[in-house]
Amino acid sequence: MKIQAITLFPEMFESITQYGVTSRALKQGLWQFDSINPRRFADNKLGYIDDRPFGGGPGMIMMAPPLQAAIDAAKENLAGNQTVVIYLSPQGMPLTHQKVAEFAQMSDLILLCGRYEGVDERILSTSVDQEISIGDFVVSGGELPAMMLMDAVLRLIPGVLGDSQSAEQDSFADGLLDCPHYTRPLEFRGMAIPEVLRSGNHGLIAKWRLKQSLQRTLLRRPDLLEKRNLIPEEIRLLQEIEEEQRTIQS
Ligand code: SAM
Repeated sequence: MKIQAITLFPEMFESITQYGVTSRALKQGLWQFDSINPRRFADNKLGYIDDRPFGGGPGMIMMAPPLQAAIDAAKENLAGNQTVVIYLSPQGMPLTHQKVAEFAQMSDLILLCGRYEGVDERILSTSVDQEISIGDFVVSGGELPAMMLMDAVLRLIPGVLGDSQSAEQDSFADGLLDCPHYTRPLEFRGMAIPEVLRSGNHGLIAKWRLKQSLQRTLLRRPDLLEKRNLIPEEIRLLQEIEEEQRTIQS
């Protein structure tokens, strides 16, 4: 996969290209990265690529021509033929596991990072395939949202994580929240780990983990359960959880 970020701050991407699993995977050639600074395509010597909004109002707007030239330059350097141009925007569709998995199938992601008050609308209507939001709040630029999207996508690329099962067992991957995890020491501030995790009985451990996942999802994200096609084992475990909760409350 090749990812190209159109950004006024290419150095920010060192956080993802030089640290952690994403950096290791880049060095292993599992993905490629390029940044394109739209200032390269400014029509003035000072490199301005923003201007005041028509109609007045605060802030500046990134101009369409340098952004178009940057997108065109990115498209000249694709790794394959499955490309999506994404504008990171608080007005976009929420970034979900489903979206991340969809992007992980692509050969090329072109990520347009806005700054200031945003970008000229005409770029969005002609040259952007999808607008993606990282949440219902506004940050100062698209670079951090782009890196969040990149990190989430790269975790799903085979070989990026040391253990491929990690991503499969993470929250949302199969529609539930992850179960609680414990490591040494056996006791911390008077709290022991659940006995079943020391039993060595893999069947029991798997059942305990599924029940914990269901319980957490029920408590914290019941909306995920509403969307889920529950299998009989899950229905039975949820009944058990509800009975246990009733007993605690009575
Ligand atoms: N005026 C814009 C609005 O209200 O929709 C917000 C502009 S914001 C200060 C500057 C840039 O940050 C945006 O162009 C976008 O690229 C990025 N950005 C801000 N919040 C974001 C979010 N929640 N998700 C994705 N990108 C975001």
